[in-house]
Amino acid sequence: MGKIVRALSETGGVLCAAVDATDIVKKASEVHGASAAVTAALGRFTAAASLMGSMLKYEGDRLTVRINGGGACGTLTAVADYRGNVKCSVGNPKADAQDVESLIGNDGQLTVIKDMGLKEPYVGQVQLSSGNIARVLTEYYSISEQLPTVFALGTLFDDDLKVKSAGGYMVQVVPPVSDSAVSTLDENLRNMDEIGEMLKNFNPEEIALKALSGLGGEVLDEWEAVYHCDCSRERTERILMSLGKKELARLAEEQETTEVCCHFCNKKYLFSAEDMLKMLKN
Ligand SMILES: [Zn+2]
Repeated sequence: MGKIVRALSETGGVLCAAVDATDIVKKASEVHGASAAVTAALGRFTAAASLMGSMLKYEGDRLTVRINGGGACGTLTAVADYRGNVKCSVGNPKADAQDVESLIGNDGQLTVIKDMGLKEPYVGQVQLSSGNIARVLTEYYSISEQLPTVFALGTLFDDDLKVKSAGGYMVQVVPPVSDSAVSTLDENLRNMDEIGEMLKNFNPEEIALKALSGLGGEVLDEWEAVYHCDCSRERTERILMSLGKKELARLAEEQETTEVCCHFCNKKYLFSAEDMLKMLKN
């Protein structure tokens, strides 16, 4: 089970969330049959999505993060709920590259979609300046949400290229914050070990409190987060129906069975020509 901890500075204003995403990443890698290079990217990416999800306010709020950098792994998509449960998909799970940054590429956009039960979801987008997920997310929060935010994300492997641990933290400054709190935070962040070392030596609670050291940080809440796909036959039917009557009729005529595979968990849903015709009538 993964674990998320959120901690807040004594006078408010500085919020830190830290996640142990080891099991989430193991599951993501297994579901997608991912190469070690893609698994390294998914580790950072799902940890980030889980942290961002944990910042949503209400049950039912959902967040989608998409990175489309033109690199060998193709588009990365992750969806997280307000408790940091996450699912992800990747264009080319077998891709390989020298490092995560070139695997992702830097020619494209980062898109964040927040569905908070309103008529229209909130959509924010920034151009990628690099394939560095933590840096790009920092830029996103600064440009799109005007919230100073820092991420550290990592995936560690053991000698036979199995995931040993993955996770990270995000620190967000929500004004008003005193200048002295900001300079204490800056110093803390400068003194934090490299994320790989942090994941080796500390749990999420220790990491979150370290980031808030000298700021009277206290744990706000903590919970388990898992890799979870919420697809269902009903949802899949709705997607098929959104193709339109013409397309449904064509599929019903051309094939005995229409197979729809979920990009997030690889579950297959089968629809007979008869099923398709029934949907057509609705
Ligand atoms: Zn699914």
